[in-house]
Amino acid sequence: MENKPIARRLRLLSQLMELHEVNPFKIKSVANASFKVDKLPFAVAGKTLAELEKVEGIGKSMASKIHELVETGTMTDLEDLLAATPEGVVDIMGIKGIGPKKVAIIWKDLGIENTGELYYACNENRLIEAKGFGLKTQEEIRKAIEFKMASNGKFLYAQITKEANDLLNKIETVFVDALVEFAGEYRRLCEIISKLVIVLGSRDQQMAFDSFTKSNILQNISLNKNHITGELANGLLVDIVCVEKRYFYKELFMQTGNEEHTTAVLGRTKDEFDQPTSEELIYKKAGLEFIKPELREGDTFIAKAESNNLPQLISYKDLKGTLHNHSTWSDGVNTIEEMALYCRDTLKLEYLGMCDHSKSAFYAKGLSIERVLQQQEEIDHLNKKLSGFKIFKGIESDILNDGSLDYPDEILKKFDFIVASVHSNLKMDEEKATTRIIKAVENPYTTILGHPTGRLLLSRKGYPIDYKKIIDACAANNVVIEINANPLRLDLDWRWHQYALEKGVWLSVNPDAHRIEGFLDMRFGVLVARKGGLSKDKCLNALSLPAIMQVFEKKRG
Ligand SMILES: [Zn+2]
Ligand SMILES: [Zn+2]
Repeated sequence: MENKPIARRLRLLSQLMELHEVNPFKIKSVANASFKVDKLPFAVAGKTLAELEKVEGIGKSMASKIHELVETGTMTDLEDLLAATPEGVVDIMGIKGIGPKKVAIIWKDLGIENTGELYYACNENRLIEAKGFGLKTQEEIRKAIEFKMASNGKFLYAQITKEANDLLNKIETVFVDALVEFAGEYRRLCEIISKLVIVLGSRDQQMAFDSFTKSNILQNISLNKNHITGELANGLLVDIVCVEKRYFYKELFMQTGNEEHTTAVLGRTKDEFDQPTSEELIYKKAGLEFIKPELREGDTFIAKAESNNLPQLISYKDLKGTLHNHSTWSDGVNTIEEMALYCRDTLKLEYLGMCDHSKSAFYAKGLSIERVLQQQEEIDHLNKKLSGFKIFKGIESDILNDGSLDYPDEILKKFDFIVASVHSNLKMDEEKATTRIIKAVENPYTTILGHPTGRLLLSRKGYPIDYKKIIDACAANNVVIEINANPLRLDLDWRWHQYALEKGVWLSVNPDAHRIEGFLDMRFGVLVARKGGLSKDKCLNALSLPAIMQVFEKKRG
């Protein structure tokens, strides 16, 4: 029998002991035993307790622990420590390059309890504030987490756009005369990608396969019927579907999916037709307006396409400003002025809404009342200085446990607008979360509901909410719902955009930028807003400066 699993359990024990600051001598003896067991020339499983005690460098007390482990599969000490540690924290310990001392700081000082939160904190630059961490460590941790996320085969859309486009370009260079297009989840702009599908229309399949095997474009390449499958260097599964050119558009339509959608569309076409010369033709035959790939989920938009009533989807250039952003006043990296200049000069926007954290968010240097007033003075000063641009005084107010906002009314009324978000006590059942959020939505000062579920894609589920009740409350109280554009959040989920829009609720594509590069996340927010069917006339930050000023003023009464 192998000693490796035993050594690994002992190592976990020593790490947990270190995390919980047990006597250093004891930690050392467990760590040594782990090392020793790993290197033994015989299996410890076959040994009696007495035999183990005689092994050099193990000693009596460690021998009994190892014996217990072999006999029962675990150790009382280990179970006790595991019970005292959140599961997500144990998970963090498994990330390469983060020792127990660092994990202790992450958990105890920063209040981070799982890998998803840690990844988000790296992106928010929150780690560099902590003792013993620097920009370099933060970057290493971020990379290690990305590696770990990739190992379960799923990727955030934003994580793979570059690789996906590089691959498509390479294929286009190899197959000059071919028809090539993305299909599947990626073409439908899904927030999570488990497989990259590409349809290739060429004259000769065998030739296509030969070129691929020679080209090194993909790893672990194999051919199955007309599918060439393989992996990218980052582990993303790739499926290239090769067909003759004349079948290309039908195949593209089928491979784009989703299945429920293609079935619904084809169910409406009477005659068989295998060689449409465009996708538009397929929809036409089905008596439908052309449905863009991002809207092809089930039958959601089919009735609208039938009555020529599809939404005019928003695009990035429709955005006129950006709301919900953080500066050095709380946990951001850039000053308000740097952010404003970037928005005005590089992004050509008309306004910037600052929403630093409110006072309860101590981990993010949330603003005390005094600091709020100082920040507003700075914004007044900058607004005088910056011509042709406006900075709005906002705040990302914590929704406290009882649903109230984080400042007294006389302070709340000083803001131009308020984003209300939940950041603490995330472990709630649906009823509690829904009541808490509705209370905040009913607060007359709330302008926008921020990231409604607190989810972090691929790593934290988010608290359960009754979407309908919350959206109905937003409709009743004239509150806009955020589409948080951070690729990890994309919250409000696109599956609820239509319901919100039907109820008359507006949406806002908010980058939640913590540095100037963060503004670019709005591109991902727009993609997911398109998927939800948002048009620019229902998007708060697609309003021009004079129009949004009116909205804010009206809300504040
Ligand atoms: Zn937030
Ligand atoms: Zn924020």
